[in-house]
Amino acid sequence: VIWLGQAEHSVTTTCAYCGVGCGFKAEMKGNEVVRMVPWKNGQANEGHSCVKGRFAWGYATHKDRITTPMIRKRITDPWQEVSWDEAIGYAASEFKRIQAKYGRDAIGGIVSSRCTNEEGYLVQKLVRAAFGNNNVDTCARVCHSPTGYGLKQTLGESAGTQTFKSVEKSDVIMVIGANPTDGHPVFASRMKKRLREGAKLIVVDPRRIDLVKSPHVKADHHLQLRPGTNVAVITALAHVIVTEGLLDEAYIAERCEDKAFREWREFVSRDANSPEATAVVTGVPATELRAAARLFTTGRSDGTAATLQARGARPNAAIYYGLGVTEHSQGSTMVMGIANLAMATGNVGREGVGVNPLRGQNNVQGSCDIGSFPHELPGYRHVSDSSTRALFENAWNVELQPEPGLRIPNMFDAALSGSFMGLYCEGEDIVQSDPDTQHVAHALSSMECIVVQDLFLNETAKYAHVFLPGSSFLEKDGTFTNAERRISRVRKVMPPKAGLADWEVTVKLSNALGYPMDYTHPEQIMAEIAALTPTFSGVSYEKLDRLGSIQWPCNDEAPEGTPTMHIDRFVRGKGKFFITQYVASDEKVTRRFPLLLTTGRILSQYNVGAQTRRTENNQWHSEDRLELHPHDAEERGIRDGDWVGIESRSGQTVLRAQVSDRMQAGVVYTTFHFPESGANVITTDSSDWATNCPEYKVTAVQVLPVMQP
Ligand code: SF4
Repeated sequence: VIWLGQAEHSVTTTCAYCGVGCGFKAEMKGNEVVRMVPWKNGQANEGHSCVKGRFAWGYATHKDRITTPMIRKRITDPWQEVSWDEAIGYAASEFKRIQAKYGRDAIGGIVSSRCTNEEGYLVQKLVRAAFGNNNVDTCARVCHSPTGYGLKQTLGESAGTQTFKSVEKSDVIMVIGANPTDGHPVFASRMKKRLREGAKLIVVDPRRIDLVKSPHVKADHHLQLRPGTNVAVITALAHVIVTEGLLDEAYIAERCEDKAFREWREFVSRDANSPEATAVVTGVPATELRAAARLFTTGRSDGTAATLQARGARPNAAIYYGLGVTEHSQGSTMVMGIANLAMATGNVGREGVGVNPLRGQNNVQGSCDIGSFPHELPGYRHVSDSSTRALFENAWNVELQPEPGLRIPNMFDAALSGSFMGLYCEGEDIVQSDPDTQHVAHALSSMECIVVQDLFLNETAKYAHVFLPGSSFLEKDGTFTNAERRISRVRKVMPPKAGLADWEVTVKLSNALGYPMDYTHPEQIMAEIAALTPTFSGVSYEKLDRLGSIQWPCNDEAPEGTPTMHIDRFVRGKGKFFITQYVASDEKVTRRFPLLLTTGRILSQYNVGAQTRRTENNQWHSEDRLELHPHDAEERGIRDGDWVGIESRSGQTVLRAQVSDRMQAGVVYTTFHFPESGANVITTDSSDWATNCPEYKVTAVQVLPVMQP
């Protein structure tokens, strides 16, 4: 329902859904939002929006919101409503009891990448200063942690290189493992405009996504690979570029480490990495791989070194990628493979090019920036670095631990072995969002105190002993950082429904634990972040109000921010090539599990659906379905709309089938927006070798028709 009346006033804020970070005017009547209008001056969206940001904000006032703190001694007991002081006092006493009994490292915290920068900063400070360990992690662990690792290793900074606007200067665009039409709609529109103007498009995806062929856009090449073979594809593309003389030798000589480059060139040149050799593994015809590599480098699918010479200048080629890259056992390797390809062709350091991770959640970038990982203090500085620790120890008046803490999956394992017994979980429904649900549930059942801070009694709250009501983005001040490193203000438009904003709850918990925090406004928290983090030293609320938003780094060298990174030199000095040896996923098809399952999102819903399912967006997509190829459906006697059972090595679930030629034979696909569909009951606990990011995108399954459950 669209309200057509006159608003009394409006407040400028930022969408709390995806990593595009669109600016909005929240139009108000009294204390009520009546309409969200995309902000014309929003630098990420320039007046555009999608169906989520525009219409799906009603969850903030939904009747399911919990607005009173609750506690219970055992998870089988009924919840008991209590005051804030009682709930926080109980949580603090339980955490202290657990540490006294099991040791300092027996508790930890998880903070959602949907929280503001200021909230994330406070949670990691709480864990490091009040808990006294480094057991803090964020849900970026399960999405883009390989981006942080891979880009830091190769380019020197754990972030994308460009602005969204940069795509307007691209001549060739490669989209790998991302479906921007559904996941990042406002950026997708910007990209499609450029494609309609004549830019070329290469799509690397197991599924025929909208970008491959839609009424207005058609990919020049769709590399429809088998799930789990990304690294073989990117290495084969590099093979063509190296062996056909398409490298940007001058750029590499000036800007990249020579020894690492020579080793990489020798590696990718091997016959085993040729398109012909890898086609068997990837399922992508060698001719397509060769044509795509030539298009990316020369602007023509039949381009050669002579084409480049005649052209006089290289085309601007940009790579955009998503969770189809990172959520693999070789996620970090693939991110490094993408950076290799961009450096090899001279495509980092100016507009129109670059390596561009499309972050799923609104504040994945910010959550990583401000120290939510167990091995890094704010600004991606390792906890083992004594000078960084000394800086924070002075500012926080505590002693910090030099050893990295537990990652989310390590917390689960430690809980099952009896050494991790208490968890503070803010804004994250780990039972629904993390892989291998039964394993997660078993781990949570083993803990002695779980504190959940959320808007709703989510799946994780079923295992909680303390429930602290959370606040929506409309009820608090702060900042989000989008996928292009753009920090934007979130502004409070109504008082917190439960009386406290999320950051205030963390402050109270810290004080109850005996570590004093005395912030009275998130602006003070941002000032502390800026004082302690060189890449943010020029960021302030005053400047954000004046400029609208700021892309970090923002400091004395770049007082108004940095739209394009690595212009004259890479942040690490010289760019570094890494060997990308393809290793097959542990998830292999067998007679028992003959299909590969991969997952993704749909436009109207968002992640585990906790917000969008409680809005009118639910009418457009009210269930998760299993997409499968007509051949696989026919072989099993499955018709469109039939109920099917899906079984993997981890578990089983039931969905309705959607027969679709968007799929390749042998591959099935589902979204994960509804708890009852149990998508993560069937995903396994395989994960990225460097970061433990789960391999959501490759699960061997069997699919068979079943009766309606
Ligand atoms: Fe919100 Fe993303 Fe849609 Fe923009 S594109 S309105 S940030 S969900």
